[in-house]
Amino acid sequence: MSNKETRILLIEDEPSLIFTLRDTLENEGYIVIVCEDGEEAVGLAQKNKPDIIILDIMLPGKNGYEICQELRALKFTIPIIILTAKNQELDKVKGLDIGADDYITKPFGVKELLARIQARLRRTGTYSSSNNIDLLQLGATKIDLLESKVIFGDGRRNELTARETELIKYLLEAGGEPVSRDELLEKVWRYEYSTNTRTVDVHISKLRAKIESLPDEPRHLITLHGVGYLLKTY
Ligand code: CA
Repeated sequence: MSNKETRILLIEDEPSLIFTLRDTLENEGYIVIVCEDGEEAVGLAQKNKPDIIILDIMLPGKNGYEICQELRALKFTIPIIILTAKNQELDKVKGLDIGADDYITKPFGVKELLARIQARLRRTGTYSSSNNIDLLQLGATKIDLLESKVIFGDGRRNELTARETELIKYLLEAGGEPVSRDELLEKVWRYEYSTNTRTVDVHISKLRAKIESLPDEPRHLITLHGVGYLLKTY
C-alpha cells in the first residue's frame, strides 16, 4: 500500500512528540509538515494543502479549537484528527463539535494514531493514490466504485452499500493477496464495537451475492480457508 505524496500537517509544540511522530509518519512514507505555533497553523495549511491535519489543542499563539474552527470556516474539508492531553469528556465532545473528524487522547500509541490516519484518509479517498480505480472489471461484470453499482454482462444491476464498496477497495488494494478477517475488521470496520470476524463473513457473503454471477461458485471473491479473503480480478 502506498502513502506516496500524502501530506500530513502536524500542528504540535511538544518537541519529543514532534520527533516521534515525524519519524514514524515519514517511515510510513508520508510527507510531514510540522507547525509548532498556533498562529501560523492556518496559513501553513493554506500554503501546503495537506491531505490530513493532526492538531494539538494546547499550543502557543492560538489553540487547536480555534484553528479547527477557522479551517472549517475557510471550507477546508480535509480530515482533522485532534490530539488532546486533557482527558475530560467535555473536551472530546467540544473537539468534535468544532468540526474535527476524530480525536485521540495523549498518551497514545503510535500504531493507534496510524490506524486512525489511514482510516480517515481511506474515507476521503486519498489513502492510496496508486489504486484510484473507479471502474473495476470482474469478467463480464463491471463494478462502479464511484457510484457503488454492480452491472452484470446481461444488464442486471445491484447497488452496493458504502461498506461493501470499501471492502472491495480494500481487497483490491491488496493486489490479489489474501487479507485476513482480523485485518478487514481493523481496516474496514475500524475497531467499531460489537463487530467480530463473523461480521466480516456475513458481509462477504452478502457482497458475493451481489457481485458474483454464481455466488455459490465464486470466481472473484475467494475464501482461503484459515487465511482470509482475496479478490481475483481476472
Ligand atoms: Ca501542546
